[in-house]
Amino acid sequence: MIKPDVSPDAPQRNAVPPRATPEVTQVNQPFWDAATNHRLVIQRCTVCGRFQHEPLESCPACCGKFEWIEVSGRGIIHTFTIIHQVYHSAFASEVPYNVSIVELDEGPLMVTNIVGCDSSELAIDLPVEVDFIDVEAGISLPVFRLAADLQDSPRHNGVQAK
Ligand SMILES: [Zn+2]
Repeated sequence: MIKPDVSPDAPQRNAVPPRATPEVTQVNQPFWDAATNHRLVIQRCTVCGRFQHEPLESCPACCGKFEWIEVSGRGIIHTFTIIHQVYHSAFASEVPYNVSIVELDEGPLMVTNIVGCDSSELAIDLPVEVDFIDVEAGISLPVFRLAADLQDSPRHNGVQAK
């Protein structure tokens, strides 16, 4: 994790640019507010029960209203890629790193990073559990770690999207 130097005396040349932070909107604010408190919440349709992520204004299946539900924070690696190239200098010290898509037990997919392990340990379908990285005041990013009980795949034994 790169800590951007934002002090007034920070050198302007060769400074590591800050890592981009999420754009918090009226629609997704509950997600980021919960993340700040290290809770993972996603939307669930109050009419058809469908879970949704990324946050939307209304259910794409039935136009119903959403409520926010705290979810298990467990899922599996749906897919991943390893980034070896420095595409943004804020990530220069992090290569190689992974960009992963986790399939939550509740159904939705979430773009994230798997942390706390070597890239060589990653594999599709491995169970993972959520953790949070505090990027700056008021902004925490949900990331995932390989679950401790690797033998116990949570795939499809949790709540499923209807
Ligand atoms: Zn719906």
